[in-house]
Amino acid sequence: MIRRFEYNARPARIIFGPGAVARLADEITASGCRRALLLSTPGRRKDAEAIARALDSRAAGLFAGAAMHTPVAVTEQAMQVFAAVNADCVVAFGGGSTIGLGKAIAYRNGATQFVIVTTYAGSEVTPVLGQTENGLKTTVLHSRILPDVVLYDPELTLDLPVETSVNSALNAMAHAVEGLYAQDRNPLSSLSAVEGIRSLLQALPIIARNPRDIDARGQALYGSWLCGTVLGTVGMALHHKLCHTLGGSFGLPHAETHAVLLPHCVAYNMSAAAEALAPLAAFFKGSIAGGLHDFATSLGAPRSLRELGLQAADLDRAAELAVRNPYWNPRPVEKEPIRDVLRQAWEGRRPQ
Ligand code: NAD
Repeated sequence: MIRRFEYNARPARIIFGPGAVARLADEITASGCRRALLLSTPGRRKDAEAIARALDSRAAGLFAGAAMHTPVAVTEQAMQVFAAVNADCVVAFGGGSTIGLGKAIAYRNGATQFVIVTTYAGSEVTPVLGQTENGLKTTVLHSRILPDVVLYDPELTLDLPVETSVNSALNAMAHAVEGLYAQDRNPLSSLSAVEGIRSLLQALPIIARNPRDIDARGQALYGSWLCGTVLGTVGMALHHKLCHTLGGSFGLPHAETHAVLLPHCVAYNMSAAAEALAPLAAFFKGSIAGGLHDFATSLGAPRSLRELGLQAADLDRAAELAVRNPYWNPRPVEKEPIRDVLRQAWEGRRPQ
């Protein structure tokens, strides 16, 4: 087949490996910044304080109020702290929630962004910000949103609970799977997607048995970087649309919804995207969709939308919302078949 593609690289400075966090102070200085506002969720405050201490005079303050789905009210509080401590950059220490706050600040005031990544969701390498206000989630895409320097240090992920590890990694895997059949995919995004999925498939069972296995933690971070890069480069399809619908309109938890839906969306798209998905056949015996379901189940991930709190009565409206303004998808997105997908996922069936 004759290839046709466009390739646009995004600027990225990635520092990867055990001990990478020790490079943060030099990176801040090299970027011409002097006063960093540290960001974390409330639960990670103590570890964030330790990072601030290591930064010494380069740490201007700490805001430990990051929350899921980047509420605008929280961003406004953090902006006030940023101004009060006279900061000139942010250091987001955490997963997608904290990274979202750093992005929201940088989007508004142009601050340089440093990220120390501690989950596998992949937000740190995308120019996308999802934020919520008055119960509505909106998405913004802008070059200022893309973090400037990203540090991946597996030593800082040893205490990430297995459940969060599994769910955020399945979220990452979903970026890569949809990247494989994206309309605007390119040879590098597809190579990254396959290698990212391979790495996560290898690392997660080891992490589930021994969360403090540093090699497996490094392997998982490597896979999540690759999967996140795919998300930051190409468009997403049906799976992401359904996850955004269920998260935005029905309050379902982000990573868990990804974990449940991915095998069902792959089953839906399989016939239309067989060639693009073919590299994954090497990883699973039998069907790719069934294999993804078995893999998630073996790690204790949630299996059904029912257990995530969706009501049977909501399936119709969810299907209706999902086919409204659909994302491009390899197979046409139609209400009845989508309702079937949601029904299967709601029941927690193994897709074929
Ligand atoms: P998260 O950031 O919400 O973190 C989950 C929990 O794990 C938090 O309580 C956090 O404090 C804790 N935690 C994080 N790292 C830890 C560690 N090393 N040790 C112990 N506890 C730790 O979870 P997430 O899955 O990374 O992010 C989900 C959010 O990210 C969602 O809001 C989603 O919309 C967003 N997201 C955005 C993009 C994007 O490109 N914009 C991509 C993926 C996800």
